[in-house]
Amino acid sequence: MAPPQDALFARVALIGIGLIGSSLAHVLRRDGLAGHIAVAARSDASLDTATRLGLADSTHRDPAEAVAGADLVVLCTPLGAYTEVGAAMAPGLAPGCIVSDVGSVKQSVIRDLGPLLPDGVHLVPGHPVAGTEHSGPEAGFAELFDGRWCILTPPDGTDASAVDRVAALWRQAGMTVEIMDPNHHDQVLAITSHLPHLIAYTIVSTATDLEEDLQKEVFKYSAGGFRDFTRIAASDPVMWRDVFLNNREAVLDILGRFSEDLTALQRAIRRNEGEALHDLFSRTRDVRRGVIDANQA
Ligand code: NAP
Repeated sequence: MAPPQDALFARVALIGIGLIGSSLAHVLRRDGLAGHIAVAARSDASLDTATRLGLADSTHRDPAEAVAGADLVVLCTPLGAYTEVGAAMAPGLAPGCIVSDVGSVKQSVIRDLGPLLPDGVHLVPGHPVAGTEHSGPEAGFAELFDGRWCILTPPDGTDASAVDRVAALWRQAGMTVEIMDPNHHDQVLAITSHLPHLIAYTIVSTATDLEEDLQKEVFKYSAGGFRDFTRIAASDPVMWRDVFLNNREAVLDILGRFSEDLTALQRAIRRNEGEALHDLFSRTRDVRRGVIDANQA
């Protein structure tokens, strides 16, 4: 089926319609990028919401039905569902179709999805580096991707025009597209995203294990820094469980380095080494300036 005029794709199948899937659907609708949007999810509640919000032309419980006739399929489920979804949709995939995704880890996508795809189907894994702590189809909005990075990690030998079409989609969503080796992606994201989430989960968990009277004070005075951690630690537990299980090596590596640095700080405090603390805090202040300069603040 040829895409209608101006549409990048004739039929896009979104498997999963949570925060990221629904945000992408808003972009597809806003800019008329898809002739037809087919949505698959596990629950009727999510599918009904997608229809009510005008994000789906058809809804499906069976991924194979959703992908039938699609020229682009985007997996927008937690990473732990990829094998099940990949096996379920494979019989419906037509040769020439592009299969992409939005998962926060990239090596595992090639490992889990690659072997399941029929010959002639192009795998172009992607990661729009944008999000919030909210989940579900009601949480999505088209501007989520504005001014952010989208990293694509096509395996060696992937059809260049398939990569170009996926890149065009994310550029249309307002993102700057970068092509990266999947292993490198997972290492970079382990430090920029996965470790910060792990730290937030730990701090909030430590605080909630305090004695009751102390705990009340923590909530009362949370504006002293704790509040920002509670926002991050409110992120979806299934998504983050799957991120850590699927990026185990890179996360454990960076966590080892982090523990060493934390121990050094602990020692500096115990030994009253004010100069060492001041030096480190001055260096980290410069990092903030770098983030602002890179327009990521
Ligand atoms: P979400 O809001 O929790 O939505 C997940 C969607 O996946 C739901 O529609 C859910 O269907 C569906 N789903 C789950 N298991 C399924 C299965 N076995 N078969 C079919 N559908 C299934 O999740 P999200 O935040 O959009 O995250 C989705 C992906 O984006 C994840 O891989 C994550 O790593 C990546 N990502 C997230 C962020 C972020 O900040 N949230 C940022 C960048 C990338 P039901 O509602 O019917 O259960």
